[in-house]
Amino acid sequence: MTCLGMDIGGTGIQLGIVDGEGQILSLVSIPTASDSETLIGSIIKAARPLIDIHHPRAVGIGSAGRIDCANGTVLRAGNLPFKNEPLCRKLSDALGLPAVIDNDANCALIAEAKAGACADHLDALMVTIGTGIGGAILISGQIYRAHNFRAGEVGHFIYDRSGKPCPCGLHGCFEQYASATALIEAATAAADEHPDSLLSASRPLNGKTIFKAAADGCPVANEVLDRYAATLADGLNSLVKIFMPTCIVLGGGIANAGDALLSRLTPHLLPEAVIRTSALGGNAGVIGAAFLAMDSLSR
Ligand SMILES: [Zn+2]
Repeated sequence: MTCLGMDIGGTGIQLGIVDGEGQILSLVSIPTASDSETLIGSIIKAARPLIDIHHPRAVGIGSAGRIDCANGTVLRAGNLPFKNEPLCRKLSDALGLPAVIDNDANCALIAEAKAGACADHLDALMVTIGTGIGGAILISGQIYRAHNFRAGEVGHFIYDRSGKPCPCGLHGCFEQYASATALIEAATAAADEHPDSLLSASRPLNGKTIFKAAADGCPVANEVLDRYAATLADGLNSLVKIFMPTCIVLGGGIANAGDALLSRLTPHLLPEAVIRTSALGGNAGVIGAAFLAMDSLSR
C-alpha cells in the first residue's frame, strides 16, 4: 500500500509516493507560488501523474503554519499565501482521494518515530533548529496537538525574562538564544572581534561554514560553538525534565552537523537525555505526511 505525502513549505513543495516502510518510491519538487490559487493548482498538476502511475490510497498533507487538523484547514502560515484555506477538501476533491493534514513539524516527528532516528520510541520530541525553533511532541505513541492544534512550540519557553523580544510576543524565548539565527549572530560578533581568525575568513557565516571553521581548528569558531551547545543543552535538559522522552530528535539545518554537534552537547546533558540528529532530513515531512494518511485509513 502506498500513500501520497506532501510537504508544503515557504521555499518549496515536495510530493512523494511512500510505501508502508517509509520508502519514497517517487519524489517531485515544485516551487511555492505566491498566491493560493496558483499554489493549489501547481500541487494538483504535480500530483496527478504520480497518482496515475502509483495509485496511492490517500493523500497526506504536511504544511507550514497553523493547521486546524479536524477541519482540514490552514488557518494561516507566515511564509505561505494561505488564510483559512480548506486545503484538505480542495485537494481531496481535485485528486479524488481522501486527504488529511497536519503541520510540518508533527509530520516530521511521525516519520522519525516510525522509520527514522527515534523509530519505535513512544515518548519522543522533535526540536527543529532553523530561523527559529519549532517542534513536536509524541506521548504514548500519539502526537500531542492540544485543543487548538497549537502544542509543540518548544522554542518559546522563556530562557531570560529580561532578554530579547521574540516575534511570538514574549521576551527572552529559548529560540532567541539557540536557533540557527542566534548561532550566526554570535559567530558574526566573534568574527568581527577577531578579524584575523579563520572564522572571519569563512564568511558568509552559516551553520555549515561555522562548523567547518571549527573542524579546521579555528579556536574562535570552537568557542562560539561550545557556548552555543551549552545553551542548546540547557533547553534540551528542560524539555527532558518536563516530558521525560526516551529520545529527542534534532532537525533543521544545524542538525546536519551530526556528531560535530552531538559531541559538543553531550558534556552538558542530563544522563537521561537521549539526543539524536534527524535520520530522514529533508524527506521527513513527505514521509510523515504519507504515514498520517496511512493511519487515517486504518482508523
Ligand atoms: Zn517566543
